[in-house]
Amino acid sequence: MSPTSFLSSDISACKIGIIGVCFDQNSSYRTGAAAAPALIREAFFCESANLWTETGKDLGQPNLFFDAGDLTPTREDFVESIGAAISRVSALQLRPLVLGGDHSITYPIIKAMAQNSPPFSILHIDAHPDIYDNFQGNPYSHASPFARIMEERLVERLVQVGIRTMTEHQREQVARFGVDVIEMKDWCADHQVLFETPVYISVDIDGLDPAFAPGVSHREPGGLSTRQVIDLIQQVRQPVIGADIVEFNPRMDVQGITAMVCAKLLKEIAAKML
Ligand code: MN
Ligand code: MN
Repeated sequence: MSPTSFLSSDISACKIGIIGVCFDQNSSYRTGAAAAPALIREAFFCESANLWTETGKDLGQPNLFFDAGDLTPTREDFVESIGAAISRVSALQLRPLVLGGDHSITYPIIKAMAQNSPPFSILHIDAHPDIYDNFQGNPYSHASPFARIMEERLVERLVQVGIRTMTEHQREQVARFGVDVIEMKDWCADHQVLFETPVYISVDIDGLDPAFAPGVSHREPGGLSTRQVIDLIQQVRQPVIGADIVEFNPRMDVQGITAMVCAKLLKEIAAKML
């Protein structure tokens, strides 16, 4: 029989802390991402697939994941509330794997992780650089988390992949902060992204082409395939110390396609973290 939730009778044996963040109030265009965590969990345990990863790990084993449940922060407390959840999971020696939510949640995650981890870098997959100084007057917008992360020098290095919406202002921000951007127009199949520190992976689902993942608030054609994103994850050679999967908007999904893409990426990221 298939499990229907993450099994953990022995937290001390677990490696990964799953945290859902039901939050989309920093979305600039369309809400809906707050409903994603439950649907990603459901797709993960869907009996249409088994729980083995492509790299040979059986995620159906008990005591791999500790499910810390879902947060429902407010716009006022989201930095503190998400940061506290990350610190709780880190104190249990678990690597956080966070299911968003809009992309604004990555700033409080990284802020908390920077206090609890050795220096690390971010592999950021997205159609958008999300590095506006502020967007529509909101410095915590889902279009701004990487501006906050970089100005507070929370990480060694930020590498962005899949970008295809760069503006002049964001190009200036990228130069100012020394971000490594692999724009989609410059992508080639044998692109290797190498790191010299542990890595945090932040996957905005709109980094994929909307043909593969239609369930997003900002459909931007010309993106990565599901296969290319899986390859990027599997090619990381350094330890993966945390990750998020954000911007899945169930209101925009078609027949559960995007939920299953999120679950697939969750599996392959988890395999890297174990
Ligand atoms: Mn995006
Ligand atoms: Mn984003």
